[in-house]
Amino acid sequence: MSEPSDRPSRPASKPSERPSWLEIAADDPFGVHNLPYGAFDPGDGSRRLGARIGDRVLDLAALERAGLVEARGTLQAATLNPYMALGRPYWKAVRDRLTELLTDQIFRYRVERLLVPLADVTPGLPFEVGDYVDFYSSQEHATNLGRLFRPGSPPLLPNWKHLPIGYHGRAGTVVVSGTDIVRPNGQRKPPDAPAPTFGPSQRLDIEAEVGFVVGAPSSLGTPLTTKDFYEYEFGVVLHNDRSARELQAWEYQPLGPFLGKSFATSVSAWVVPLDALAQARVPAPEQSPPVLPYLADERTGYDIRIEVVWNGTVVSRPPFSGLYWTPAQQLAHLTANGASVRPGDLYASGTVSGAKRAEVGSFIELTWGGAEPVTLADGRTRTFLEDGDTVTLTATAPGLDGTVVGFGEVVGRIQPPRR
Ligand code: CA
Repeated sequence: MSEPSDRPSRPASKPSERPSWLEIAADDPFGVHNLPYGAFDPGDGSRRLGARIGDRVLDLAALERAGLVEARGTLQAATLNPYMALGRPYWKAVRDRLTELLTDQIFRYRVERLLVPLADVTPGLPFEVGDYVDFYSSQEHATNLGRLFRPGSPPLLPNWKHLPIGYHGRAGTVVVSGTDIVRPNGQRKPPDAPAPTFGPSQRLDIEAEVGFVVGAPSSLGTPLTTKDFYEYEFGVVLHNDRSARELQAWEYQPLGPFLGKSFATSVSAWVVPLDALAQARVPAPEQSPPVLPYLADERTGYDIRIEVVWNGTVVSRPPFSGLYWTPAQQLAHLTANGASVRPGDLYASGTVSGAKRAEVGSFIELTWGGAEPVTLADGRTRTFLEDGDTVTLTATAPGLDGTVVGFGEVVGRIQPPRR
């Protein structure tokens, strides 16, 4: 983008117009164009809010106490919820102020001392999860799962192209990246078995998704429109909806996923502000047949590119931009009956799968129900997760002026069942 040469010396800046006084590489995905929010333990067991910049964390609690930023005291909290509840005008003002503090040399002396090396802190869950909804918005994933779970039937059910399918999940078991995942026990019954059995899941899987964090509260009884997405949506996390497939297959009809999903859901430690993703907006795929008017206005997707790494081997690169239903449509749909949202509500996109095998977001698709094992770099083969396995999700999106927006990672190691 060209800039006028006679612009004032202190323009109302876009974030990357001025580089940070911190030495950060231009291709660092956590440059001043990103500034994701998190909550960290500085080493004393407490929890404080921070913004990630490069390989450091800006201590937002200390910044607010020093009078360098004003957010009505909400940056003193242990979670982002009170700050998110302030709404978009505050989110924008604080983000603009953080950009100013990190780019204007005038502030360097006072701000530099409030930066903590990322390596010295332990990131925690950045927000208290309110209600958690998991959608099912990739046509490729829904088609693949339909074929695997209901062979011989039409893979897409008749409602799929008319509404974003979702279910309410278990908010209390959403855990931050780095948390070990204990293999769940549960009940299962193969189709040809005479009776169900109970035991450790042998078909433990991942679902690579993008999670959307609601910031501002809405009023009970008043639906949100697709346009309201930009006022209510605070930011985005990477999301791994862990799934025990044989438990899911036995229990999910007629009321949907239950214990096969509720044992753990992992999210990244850094919430990327929606404002950092303005350059990642892309047209979502055409919808045919046309959707109902309350879902029709907003067709914005996001060019978020996910990478799935299994024990160090990249096994898939799911493209978020191809999802059939957009996050704005999902928000409009989940409030269409008047249900309200609260700060910290989390809704996930659904497994992100592209059209190719190398783009699927789950191992049940990657190995086609376990029939086609994958070989990892260490020569070992896998169908589903084994104890000790580690899966890491990472993602990037285009940022301002050729920069890259990073999402950090979602990582977790599989532990054996405890009973
Ligand atoms: Ca899911």
